[in-house]
Parts: sequence; structure tokens; C-alpha cells
Amino acid sequence: MSKSRLIKLRKELERHGHLYYVLDQPEISDFEYDKLLQELIDLEDKFPDMADPNSPTQKVGGIVLDEFKRVKHESEMYSLNNAFSFEDLKAFDQRIKRSLTNYQYEVEYKIDGLAMSLLYEDGQFVQAVTRGDGVFGEDVSNNIKTVKSLPLKIDYPHKLELRGEVIINKDDFEKINKLRAANEEVLFANARNAAAGSVRQLDSKIAAKRNLDGFFYTVVDPEIHGISSQQEALGFLKKLGFKVESHGKIFDDIEDVYKYIEELELKRSQLNYDIDGVVIKVNDLAAQNILGFTSKFPRWAIAYKFAAQEVTSVIEDIFITVGRTGKITPNAKLTPVLIDGSTVSFAQLHNEDMIKEKDIRINDHVIVRKAGDIIPEVVKVLFDKRDGSQKSYVFPNNCPVCDQEIVRLENEAHHFCINVDCPARLIETMAHFASRDAMDIKGLGEQTIKTLYNENILSSLEDIYRLKTKEAQVLSLQGFKEKSFSNLIMAIEASKDNDLSKFINGLGIRLVGSRASQILSEHYDNIDALSFAKVEELQLISDIGSITAQSIVDFFKNPKNIEMINNLKDLGVNPQAVKTEVLEEGYFANKTVVVTGSFENYDRKALTSKLETFGAKVTGSVSGKTDIVVYGENAGSKYTKAIKLNVEVMNEEEFIKEVENYEKNN
Ligand code: AMP
Ligand code: ZN
Repeated sequence: MSKSRLIKLRKELERHGHLYYVLDQPEISDFEYDKLLQELIDLEDKFPDMADPNSPTQKVGGIVLDEFKRVKHESEMYSLNNAFSFEDLKAFDQRIKRSLTNYQYEVEYKIDGLAMSLLYEDGQFVQAVTRGDGVFGEDVSNNIKTVKSLPLKIDYPHKLELRGEVIINKDDFEKINKLRAANEEVLFANARNAAAGSVRQLDSKIAAKRNLDGFFYTVVDPEIHGISSQQEALGFLKKLGFKVESHGKIFDDIEDVYKYIEELELKRSQLNYDIDGVVIKVNDLAAQNILGFTSKFPRWAIAYKFAAQEVTSVIEDIFITVGRTGKITPNAKLTPVLIDGSTVSFAQLHNEDMIKEKDIRINDHVIVRKAGDIIPEVVKVLFDKRDGSQKSYVFPNNCPVCDQEIVRLENEAHHFCINVDCPARLIETMAHFASRDAMDIKGLGEQTIKTLYNENILSSLEDIYRLKTKEAQVLSLQGFKEKSFSNLIMAIEASKDNDLSKFINGLGIRLVGSRASQILSEHYDNIDALSFAKVEELQLISDIGSITAQSIVDFFKNPKNIEMINNLKDLGVNPQAVKTEVLEEGYFANKTVVVTGSFENYDRKALTSKLETFGAKVTGSVSGKTDIVVYGENAGSKYTKAIKLNVEVMNEEEFIKEVENYEKNN
């Protein structure tokens, strides 16, 4: 009976979701999970009477609001008093000693996210409200429901209110910003801002794509639930399936608390999420109740804030880079310094106004910050360190690359080189075209392109496909060997049959990055079809906004671009939206496979697509979810990891045997 299958699937998916997103111990591959999810989606379509607002299918979002509802918190969401030194902590401890004789501290990381209060009734998720001003918050339930690690159903049939932080993990944050950079959108300054922006999305589908996550640490009215300490509250939440940060620990005295804080500060850079300090709480709830609250804070807790990760360095030079669209960015070359475990040698100076506002000069001592941000920035100049050797930076009037005058349009913070033939722009355009997410031409990186550009061998995208006729010229250059040249030509030739999405991405249409390209290639079979698309039609595609739609149309309105595309087609570039038929049975079907090392009979890409047509999902890194690692010569850490995790490994010879098996049977 399909309805019972539907119910069973929901339970299964909830369990696997918890295993994957909370415990990080998946039992099935992403592929299998997606398959189960698809089955559930189909069943829910078939039986609308079985709809459930807390079904795992709801994690992808879908509801679009006009505004958020204002909600009053049943009990106020307090802020925390701050401590910045051990002295402050000792003073806090002294205050507590006045009211209590016997007590313990519970110490946990202070998560740098967005505070949130969640309500469950009868084991069902009901509502999520932001902290707001502590008394009133906003109902962001639709967005919080997309938090993959959050259980929407719990095995606890009572009313339960809990609190925690919603975050975006560091690695996801980097991905989001990379995507935004590719689309020339404004970057989020840090993961917290990204999380805040995502939680306050009116379109929950967008929120769902941001991969929100969260940690929970407070049970409201804990006594009702038979909880008698903060430590128990954390255990209670964890047992119900909520994600609880794992560093919580109990101490008897403040000296030990401080030692642990120092330990936690050192561990900070190893975490995949941002924290901005540590919270110290009196563990026992009865003791907490004796201490009570001031008008703003609980008296029984304090936040120890870590110092922002700022260091001083010297601006050795200021230089300008020109992007693919001609955007001019000033950068600072710094004396290398260590911040949060990584060496920083450059900082972004954003634009001319910022240099002027902060009065940044060459040879200045400056404070550099990297607080969760990926690109370090200059916080301020240490003016008292000026010794007369500082030189003001004169913002150039001309492009440092093509020497044409640069312009700054009204209301624009940036200067642009508007010379379409600017070598910097051409080189960046070619480098983007050849890059991995675009045409993926191995061996054609930015340095190679620069060299070939300077030798007049490459000066347009078309020239890439004419490169094979210039063998003698290329081989006469230093650093080019016959073997590397023939590999390069092979990669260029192979790119002609790339998937349409890679080609669209490669064109570098403003606001169209790899994701938008993917979406477009699902709607258009080839580049001509896309080039005829109208704004109104493009806008109808979900995730393509009006500005992006206009940008696409503008791109194809430009006769130069059409000519370039036609030339590429004449040269044999023929990208199609390929919808490959994938085998459902056989050794590799539905397996998650990682390919590593180099192969005698295949190039890596060919091997990957072969695996894909056999129904395998090929991923980049080895984890517990990997089924098989196919390894070649010089396989490194991925191979070792596979052995460690007991993942099946297969060498080239064994792989070829499997391929032959297939070809015999199919
Ligand atoms: P602040 O916003 O700087 O006043 O810090 C207080 C806020 O820190 C609280 O309202 C919580 O939202 C947040 N916070 C983060 N992690 C924790 C934690 N482990 N325990 C309590 N509060 C936390
Ligand atoms: Zn220029």
C-alpha cells in the first residue's frame, strides 16, 4: 500500500537526515537519499490528503511571503553581559559568591549566528521566531524549516520551546561568496551576515539553497521538562535530535574555567563555524533561579568575548587589478602576517573612496582584520607610527594594463576600464572561459594565457580553438614541450563537446554564474535557443531574476558576441544540453565513486563521464559515503583515506575489466 510506504519513507528520510546532518555518520549515499526523497515527493503528489507541513520534502522551501509576521516571545530573549579579561571573570565569580556557596560552571562556545526561538507542539515543529528586540521577533518558520539538521518532528509529545543560533558553516559560506563573486553580486562580509540575510529571505527556496545550519543550547522553562541543570538541558536537546555544540564542559572554579577558555580560543580556527567567544553559565537551575535577572541579562551567565582577529602589518605597496568586466580594484600588498592560522599577504582596498576615507598610504602600519571574512581588510591606519616615509597613493586615471582612461560612473563606487579590447579584460575573459566550472580546459590557466597573449598567439576566445595550427610558434616558447602542447590541444578539442551549461558559464555573461548556467541549460537545448530568448520568457524561469534576464538579453544583442559565438561554432564548438541516459543496473549503478591519480588509458574526464553513464555518482572527496575509489598512478591522500575508511578501491586494470563486462552485456 503506497500510503504506508509514504509514511515509512518519511520516517526513513528523517532518520537519514539526522544521521547525515547532525551526527555526520551517513548510512546511505547522497544519491540514495535523493532517490528516496524523490520517491516521497512523487507519493505526496499522488496523495494530496497525506500532505504534511513537516515532511522532509518541505526542506527545499517553496513558500514566498510578502512580509514576516511580528510575534511576541512568551518569555523574553535576554542578552548576555560581557567579559573581556580574566579580571572581568573573577569579578563575575565574586558576585555569584555573594549569593551562592556551592555551584558549578558550565562552559560552552558562544555561537556567532542568529538567535532564534523554536516552538514544538505534540512532537511537531510549529514556529521559529527571531530574537528581534528580545520581546518581539519575526516569524521566520518557513526559512528555518529548511535547516537540514533540524528535526521537524521529535519524539516528545509536549509543548517545548527551545533556543539556539542559526548559522552558515564556513565552507558553505565560502561557496556562497564564490558564487556571488562569479555573478558579480555584493559579497557577504561574514558567515553571520550571510545567515542573517538568508533567514530574512521572503522566498524560502532561496533560504533552502543557503544550507543553513544551527546549534541549540537553551530549553525554555526547563523545570517543566524535568531538567535540573544546563548540562541536562543540552543532553535533553541532543537526545531529541537537535544539534548541540560538543565542547560544553563543567568546572568547579573560575581558574579552571579560564584555562579551558584559553584552550577553546586555540581551537577556534579548527571549527567549521564561527564563534565569537565562550558563555559561562551557572550549571544548576535552582541556583540560576536564586540569582535571577537584571533588566537586560541573566545574573547567572556571562559571555567571554574573544578578541577580534586583528593584527598589525605594513602596506608595502598598492596595486590595481582589472577584472573580466573591466572593474578596477585596488589591493594592498602586506608584509605577510599570520591571522587565525593562515598567512595573509594581501588585503582588499575596495575602491578609491575607501583609501581616501581611511587615509591609507604606502608604508603605513595598519591593523588588518579577518573576522570570518574571506578577504582580509584594512581596519585602520596607525597614524602614530608614521615616520615620514609614507607615500600617498595616487589613484590612476588610466588603466594600468591598456593605458586607456578609466571611468567612474555616477553612483558607482568603482572605476572601470571600458576598453573592450583591454588585455586585462581579454585575459580574464579567456581564463574564465577555460576555467574548471566553465569549459574546463586543463593546461590553459591564467599564466599560460598571459604568455600566449603576449606572444600574439591568443587574443580572443576563438583563438583558443585555432591554437592547434600554431604548434611551431608555441613550441618555440620557453616552457612548452611537445607533450604538454599535445595535452593542451586534446583538452581544447574535448571541450568542444562540453555540456551547454559549461559553455554558457564560459561566456561570462554578467550575473550568470555556474548555477544560473545550469538552470538555463535545462531550459534551452542550445546556445541559439538561448540567444533568441526574451526577457519576459527568461524571467519565468525560477531563480532567474529580471536583472539577470536583462543582462542575458543585452549580451546577445551585442553583434560582437553573436559573431564570436558563430565563429566558435564554425570552429567546431558545439555545446548541447545533454541529457544522458544513465544505466540503472550494473556494478557502478547508484554508487558514489571517487577518481584519483592519473590513468594510462583514460583521461580523468573521460573516465568520469564513463562512470556517470554507468550510473555512478562521481564526487571529489572520499568520505564514509564513498562506495568505490578508482585509482591510477600517483594516487595520494584520497587513496589512503579510502583504505582507512575501508572503502572499496579499484585500479585501472580492474576498472577496464568492469567496463568490458558492461560492454559485453549491453
Ligand atoms: P550578545 O548578542 O553579544 O549580547 O550575546 C548574547 C547572545 O549570544 C544570546 O542572546 C544568544 O543569542 C547568543 N549565544 C550564542 N551562543 C550561546 C550559548 N552557547 N549560550 C547562550 N547564548 C548564546
Ligand atoms: Zn584596460
